[in-house]
Amino acid sequence: MHRKISKLLVVGAHGDDETLGAGGTIARLADEGVTIALCILTNDDGSRSANGTGVVNRTGAIELAAKTLGIERVRIHEFGDNRLDTVSHLELNRVVEHEVRDFEPDTILTTSMCDLSTDHALVSRAARVAGRPGKGSVQEVRTFEIRSATDVGEASGLPVTFRPNCWQRLEESHLERKIEALRAYGKELEPWPHPRSERGVRALAEYRGSQVSTELAEAFEIVRVVH
Ligand SMILES: [Zn+2]
Repeated sequence: MHRKISKLLVVGAHGDDETLGAGGTIARLADEGVTIALCILTNDDGSRSANGTGVVNRTGAIELAAKTLGIERVRIHEFGDNRLDTVSHLELNRVVEHEVRDFEPDTILTTSMCDLSTDHALVSRAARVAGRPGKGSVQEVRTFEIRSATDVGEASGLPVTFRPNCWQRLEESHLERKIEALRAYGKELEPWPHPRSERGVRALAEYRGSQVSTELAEAFEIVRVVH
C-alpha cells in the first residue's frame, strides 16, 4: 500500500537535525512536488561553544539549508539549545500544535525518542502529541536518525533504541543536496572519520541503502500511519 505525501512538516530541535536526519528524503519529496515546512525549536549554539559564550544565531544557516533542500516555509523558535528541559511540556506542545494547526500537514518527520540528546527526545514527544489521532490532518508520524545522537542513544539509559522499519530510496543528487545543505551549518561538519563528516553521512546512506538492496537510502521508524 502506498501513501502519497502532500504536505510534510519536519520538526527538529536544532538547525541541522532536519538535514542530518532526513535531508535526502526532503530533497527527493520536494522534487516530487510535496509542500514542505520546517519547524526548529532552538536558535543558538551557545552551549556548544567551548567557553559557553559567543552565542551564534543560526537563522541564516537554517534558511540556507532549507532553501537547498527545497523547503518552502521555515519557522524558527527561540528556545535555548540544550535547554529544552527547562521548558514545560505544555509550552512545547502548544508551540508544535500551533505549527500543525497552522500548516495542516498530512505527514510529520521528527527526531527520535531514543536519542541521547534530551532536546531531541522532548521535541519528538511534542511532535507525537501534536500529530496524535483526532481532528487533525496528520496521517503519519515518522522519526529519523541523527549520527552521534541516535546511534549513542543507549547512553541515555532508555530501554529502547531506534529500529528502522521504513526506508526512503535516494538518488545521488538527493545525497549531494543533503551534503550541500550541511555545509550551510559550517562547523557542524567534521573531518572523517567523525560521524558528522561528509564521508560519514555518505557511509550511513550507503549502509541504509544496502539494508534494502539499493544504493542509497535514509531510514525511519514509523510511529503511526493511517492508510
Ligand atoms: Zn540536534
